[in-house]
Amino acid sequence: MLIVTKKNNDLRKKSICHYNAIILTQGNLIVTITKIDTWVMLNNWNILDCYTSSEFLDKMEEAGVKHVAFGGRLPIRANPKNYENSLVKRKTPSPEILSLKNKVQKLFRDLKNRGIKIYLYGTNPRANEMQPDSMTKKHCLDIDLAVKPSEGYWAICSNTPEFIPYYLASIQDAIQNFPEVSGFLNDGPEFGYEIKPGFMGHMNNLFTCFGSCCEKKAKELDYDFTSLKQTAIQLRRKLMSLEERSLNNLFDQEIEGLEFLSLAIKEPKIKEWFNFKKDSVSKYIKTLNQGIKTIDNSLQLGVGSRLPAFAPLTGYDLQSLNQHANFFLPKLYFWMGGYDGLYGTVYRWAKTLKNWNPHLSEKTILQFLYKLFGFTLPNTNSFKNMEKHIDPLFLNNNKNTWLGEAFPKEFFTKVVTAEVEKMLQQVGNSNRVRPWVNPVHGGRSLTPQELDLVLEAAKKASLKTYLYYCSLENGEWEVALKHSNKLQK
Ligand SMILES: [Zn+2]
Repeated sequence: MLIVTKKNNDLRKKSICHYNAIILTQGNLIVTITKIDTWVMLNNWNILDCYTSSEFLDKMEEAGVKHVAFGGRLPIRANPKNYENSLVKRKTPSPEILSLKNKVQKLFRDLKNRGIKIYLYGTNPRANEMQPDSMTKKHCLDIDLAVKPSEGYWAICSNTPEFIPYYLASIQDAIQNFPEVSGFLNDGPEFGYEIKPGFMGHMNNLFTCFGSCCEKKAKELDYDFTSLKQTAIQLRRKLMSLEERSLNNLFDQEIEGLEFLSLAIKEPKIKEWFNFKKDSVSKYIKTLNQGIKTIDNSLQLGVGSRLPAFAPLTGYDLQSLNQHANFFLPKLYFWMGGYDGLYGTVYRWAKTLKNWNPHLSEKTILQFLYKLFGFTLPNTNSFKNMEKHIDPLFLNNNKNTWLGEAFPKEFFTKVVTAEVEKMLQQVGNSNRVRPWVNPVHGGRSLTPQELDLVLEAAKKASLKTYLYYCSLENGEWEVALKHSNKLQK
C-alpha cells in the first residue's frame, strides 16, 4: 500500500505493502481509499438507447473501467456450419434484437479502440434460447422421493451431452461476428443448493440431478448412481427428522460444511454424492475451456460460482477448477428474499427445516445452518432477526423492494470479509478472483451504502478486482466511482 500524506504542504510517502492507496487530506482529516479494479457487466442492450458510444466510453473511463461484459442476447444469426456437431440448433433472435447488430459492432469497435476489453455473458445457453424439450432437464428427487423434471431458467443439466457442443457453437458464432471479444463468462448451470419445496430460484434444488444425463455421467466417472440416489434419499429423510439434543452435542466440534452435515445426519456416503457433483462440474468446465481454447487460444474463460459457503453444495470447488479457467467470479450476493442472496438462502433453509422439524428451536436450526455454511449471522438467533431486513409485504414473494432494515455493519466486516478471504485462499491468486457484485435478484436491494460496505470488506480481505453488475446511475454508480482511483483527481 502506498500512503501519501499531505502535512504542511510536504508530501511524504511510505510503503506498507504492495497494494496501492490514495490518501486525501482536508485539514487534519485523512481518508484512505484502496484501489480496486472495477469490471462492469450489463445485462441487456439498453445502454444503446441511453448513451452514444462516446458517452458510454467516457462513463467507463470515469470509474477507470477497462473491461466490460455484455449479457444481452447477441444480434446475430447462427452459422449452420458451427452447429454441425450440435444436435441442437440456435433459434434466430427477434427482429428487434437483430436490428441492433450495427450499433453493437460500432460500440465494440469503439471500445477496442479506447483500450477497453470486451467479454460476453450472453453466450450462456439459457432456457429461453433453446428449443423446448430439446435438451435434458435436471431431474430432482422431490419431497415424496419421486424423481421429477426441474423447471425454470437454468433447468437444463450441464451433464446433458448436447450442452457443450451447442455452447461452443454459440461461442464460434459470437467470435465470427465480433472479433473484438476477449473472452466469455460462464454462469450455470450448477447443481442447486436450496431445499424449500417448489422454490423456483435460479439454480434451485439441492436434490438434483437424477435424470438420464447424470446417470450416464456417473457411469463415465465411475460412480454407483443407485448408491448416490440412496444417499440423497437418506439425506432428505434425515433432514426431516432432526433431533435437538444430538445436534446440540455437535455444535462445539470444530468442523463445518459437508463434513459437519455428514456427521450431523450420520451419513458418511454423503461426501461421495457431492464428489460426483464436483467431478462432473470439473469435467464440464474443463471441456468448455478446452473447446474455447481450440477455437482461439487467446480467448479467456471466467467461471461463475457461489460464495464459499454454498459452492460445495453446488459442485463448484475452485481448487479443482483452478487449472480449467482464467479467472473466477464467485457471487457476492447477500440480499434478503428474492433469489440467490445469502440472507434469503439462510432464511429459506431455516423455515423449511422448521416446517419439517416443528419441535426444533429456531436457535438450534440457525446454529445447524451456521455450521453447515461456515459463517454466523451477527445478532441472529431467531427468524424475526432476519425478517426485519425486508418488509413483510415482500417476504414471501420474489419482487424487488428497497424496504427493510439494512444489514448490521458487523455482517460486512466479519461474514463478507471471511467469505472473500476463503475464495482468495482457494484460488491462490488475487488477480484471478473477480467476484460478481450485484445489489439484488428479487428481494431487498442492497443500498448504495451496503454495496460500499461490501467493497470495503472485500478490500480488507485483499480483493483486487470485481465485476459490478449494476445500474450505471445514481448511488450504485457512485460506489464504483468511490472505489476507483479516478474520483480523487
Ligand atoms: Zn443431470
